Amino acid sequence: MENMNYLSFNKYPKVFPKEVLFPNWLTDVDKLELVDSVLCYGKGKSYGDVCLNEDGTLIDTTNLNHIINFDNNTGLIKCEAGITLKEILEFTVPKGWFLPVTPGTKFITLGGAVANDVHGKNHHTAGTFGSHVTEIELFRSDKLTYTCTRDKNKELFSATIGGLGLTGFIKTVEFQLINIETPFMYVENIKFNNLDSFFDLNEESEKLFPYTVSWVDCTTKGKKMGKGIYMRGRHATKTEVSKSFEMKDGALPFPIEASFINNFTVKAFNKLFYSKQFSKFSTQIVPFEPYFYPLDMIDGWEKAYGKKGFLQHQFVLPYDNCKEYMHLIFEEIVNSGMSSFLTVLKSFGDAISPGMLSFPKKGITLAIDYRMEGEKTLKLLDRIDTIVAKSGGSLYPGKDARMSRDHFHQFYPTFEEFLKYKDPNFSSSFYRRIK
Ligand SMILES: Cc1cc2nc3c(=O)[nH]c(=O)nc-3n(C[C@H](O)[C@H](O)[C@H](O)COP(=O)(O)OP(=O)(O)OC[C@H]3O[C@@H](n4cnc5c(N)ncnc54)[C@H](O)[C@@H]3O)c2cc1C
Repeated sequence: MENMNYLSFNKYPKVFPKEVLFPNWLTDVDKLELVDSVLCYGKGKSYGDVCLNEDGTLIDTTNLNHIINFDNNTGLIKCEAGITLKEILEFTVPKGWFLPVTPGTKFITLGGAVANDVHGKNHHTAGTFGSHVTEIELFRSDKLTYTCTRDKNKELFSATIGGLGLTGFIKTVEFQLINIETPFMYVENIKFNNLDSFFDLNEESEKLFPYTVSWVDCTTKGKKMGKGIYMRGRHATKTEVSKSFEMKDGALPFPIEASFINNFTVKAFNKLFYSKQFSKFSTQIVPFEPYFYPLDMIDGWEKAYGKKGFLQHQFVLPYDNCKEYMHLIFEEIVNSGMSSFLTVLKSFGDAISPGMLSFPKKGITLAIDYRMEGEKTLKLLDRIDTIVAKSGGSLYPGKDARMSRDHFHQFYPTFEEFLKYKDPNFSSSFYRRIK
């Protein structure tokens, strides 16, 4: 069945399930016969094939989107796994609670957040999403529901966080929210001239701000290789927000990201970078959405890559040798001339990820988009993987459609241990490619 609704975000690879099931209630899940090759599908916002199951069964979880429990005193929340981060935020933000960790889009499900153990701009202070999960209810093909916590069924808990959907059907997730005074962010935007300046700025910023991220230019060679814009922020206080409104006569401060993304091309990046409009240093009070989710504001931006789709490639380099290897990789990218539309540079802190297969570990991570141009693109990414492997780094399975089996096993030495907890009837196109 060629159902284009069940591709991944980057539309590559184009493979299709044999059938799609739609449970409406948790009680429907208990009746599912999970035979053969099954996989849950959230919103398909992964880049690659972790959410695809060619010729197998997909279970669309998005009707399971209810909040089960919420404690306004403690910020502990329990939801069905098909709920989106957007739906959670709509409920919690007016009450003064925010997600402990959020990726760069709010259009993903809670199940997807757990299965890829997603990270956000605050990894250096908060670790991954899974670090804030207190309980998972997991339905497996033996028709039993396992309640998993750090103490109960703890191996299954750890295998399911970052477990790429292979340990069973996550029915519900309980996790801890964080308290916020306002739905606004205090943000500082700082231009930096090259990769070395990024490393200096990053070291200083991580001590001062819970959220940090940079957009980098990967088209410029020489002394300015790796120049970019560093965006560091924190949740704004009530006083900061009211002062900002007074200064602006009640108008909302202009979020820089909006102009950034409306002109969403490499050229626009450079234009903005050099334009006087963007000074070397600026501060803003902005709503949380443009800071956390700039890409969500442009509907269908990913279609700009054309019918063949694109690849996103995200790796982490270990902290100790990241400068040397990041320079090598930037040279590969710049010299290839295959400039990426969007390149995001960010660091991961000391927090040990709770999942057996979680991707983040201490170091610097780079996420790059490439238009899919066949062999040329694949060869460049293979060359980068080789450098990543040499550095002792790793690649993000949630954003992968082509890493080799050998590289996967090198990057994830815990995979053999993980297999003990995999559900025998769950599978994915990604799993069959790398196992
Ligand atoms: C614009 C954009 C920005 C992004 N930024 C980031 C980022 O900053 N950090 C980051 O970590 N990721 C980021 N991502 C990737 C995205 O957050 C993850 O791929 C996420 O897992 C997608 O969730 P989903 O609900 O769409 O799940 P899908 O993509 O549909 O599935 C992802 C995995 O979750 C499994 N799964 C889903 N629901 C269940 C369930 N109920 N039970 C068991 N398994 C389940 C699937 O089987 C699959 O293995 C970004 C993606 C986009 C499009």
